[in-house]
Amino acid sequence: MEAARVAALKGHQVILFDAGRELGGMLKWGSVPPHKEILKTLPEYYSGELKRLGVELRMGMEATGELVLREKPDTVIVASGGVVLKPDIPGIDKGIVVSALDVLSGKRKTGKDVIVAGGGAVGCEVANHLAQQDKKVTIVEMLDSVGLDMDSWIWVCLSAELAEKNVRILKSTKIEEIAEDGVVLIDKSWNRTVLKADHVVLALGLKRFDGLTRELEGKVREIRVIGDAKMPRRIQEAIYEGFLTAYNL
Ligand SMILES: Cc1cc2nc3c(=O)[nH]c(=O)nc-3n(C[C@H](O)[C@H](O)[C@H](O)COP(=O)(O)OP(=O)(O)OC[C@H]3O[C@@H](n4cnc5c(N)ncnc54)[C@H](O)[C@@H]3O)c2cc1C
Repeated sequence: MEAARVAALKGHQVILFDAGRELGGMLKWGSVPPHKEILKTLPEYYSGELKRLGVELRMGMEATGELVLREKPDTVIVASGGVVLKPDIPGIDKGIVVSALDVLSGKRKTGKDVIVAGGGAVGCEVANHLAQQDKKVTIVEMLDSVGLDMDSWIWVCLSAELAEKNVRILKSTKIEEIAEDGVVLIDKSWNRTVLKADHVVLALGLKRFDGLTRELEGKVREIRVIGDAKMPRRIQEAIYEGFLTAYNL
């Protein structure tokens, strides 16, 4: 959105493909947990600006190599984001496993008893989202701290809400295996325990998703990869790279 805005401001003719029906990418789901509504203002702002600047929006349309080449572009900017990281844990494909994105998007509902795998920002936020619905939530994190990728003042507020809702946080603990009705955990002293749950919510990060780059390499004059498609990070980096790439066209 930022790359399209700045390229259009510079007088380029811009077509923006998005496989989704609305602008905003991950922000749509990132804005769902409590107190994050403000993130909705970004797609709202860009939506107005892109229309005003005459960017041609092709929503609900996946940009394939063929579709892109048909437009004969001088430059292709790939900002296709990331996909859910699914590590090689035995049982990860069982029906009990859902992703944080599935939960936040409302695509999957969870039962009352939930284990959140991963105690980074997304794991803690999805845990809070579920705890506010009075679900019994346990966060499992293999590091000895949670919320490490969050600003400390946000973590202070969020951890208070998690404590108020009795969210259990198991640090230095790994999920060794996922069963039909829970998980097998192993802690740093090699103690194994079984924890029952209705669902396991994966919040173990994203991996870059830039298949389009490989399809187009050598077939277009210039191709740039930005944002999470380059490396999953945060909004600030995605916007910064969008700005810089389009500014330097
Ligand atoms: C649950 C969650 C919460 C988050 N909360 C925060 C936060 O509080 N603060 C923060 O800074 N960051 C947060 N992030 C990270 C932030 O959302 C991302 O860093 C940012 O959205 C990356 O922007 P992007 O444009 O690179 O990719 P994305 O936002 O992932 O957008 C990629 C877009 O490309 C589209 N697409 C993919 N392939 C194609 C194709 N072939 N053709 C057409 N369209 C395609 C997708 O439909 C999508 O709309 C959060 C992420 C998640 C998952």
